[in-house]
Amino acid sequence: MPHDHDHPHDHDDHAPIVEDATPGYYEVMETALRELLIAKGLITAAEIRRQIEVLDSRTPALGAKVVARAWTDPDYRARLLADGRAAVEELGISVYDDTQLIVLENTETMHNLIVCTLCSCYPRPVLGLPPDWYKLKPYRARAVSEPRKVLEEFGTVLPEGMEIRVSDSTSLVRYLVLPRRPEGTAGWSEEALAALVTRDAMIGVVPVTLSQEAA
Ligand code: FE
Repeated sequence: MPHDHDHPHDHDDHAPIVEDATPGYYEVMETALRELLIAKGLITAAEIRRQIEVLDSRTPALGAKVVARAWTDPDYRARLLADGRAAVEELGISVYDDTQLIVLENTETMHNLIVCTLCSCYPRPVLGLPPDWYKLKPYRARAVSEPRKVLEEFGTVLPEGMEIRVSDSTSLVRYLVLPRRPEGTAGWSEEALAALVTRDAMIGVVPVTLSQEAA
């Protein structure tokens, strides 16, 4: 629906943003709790704003950088597998939420998949916010009960003999999948390798492939 205002670009292709007059239950609760904490002097509005900025600054590009470094530097890879948190902090990625980070390496015989069966625990410091499907019940339940079928729905068909290990995240322990480096990338720069690594590959629902870059 076209609407009148005085700047020139065309809005025909999307709906106008409409403020919902009545906030929902959780919105009211969040506002009340936030205002109370500020009024009691326990946190400041500036601290909240800063934390939201930190959360918004995290994207899968950070995880991709970690993966590319692990692929090109065997010593780094060893440190990453031994202590994920310390190794990502080495690259300047702060783990702000006091969680442990365990990096799970895919091999020729083992494929890792991560899930939070309870809610939406996710390695946010290195991947940002989880995709919607990660938070929904079908994925949370079926990743555990029929992982091979779930992977097939993502287009990932693993060889019969490949073991699939599903790791259930918690509020204290988060996982990141270290995917296999694709064939045909010998000699590639870290930047070029990082560009191949997708969010979904670091969740473990797809492999890293050369064609993803072009897709
Ligand atoms: Fe959770």
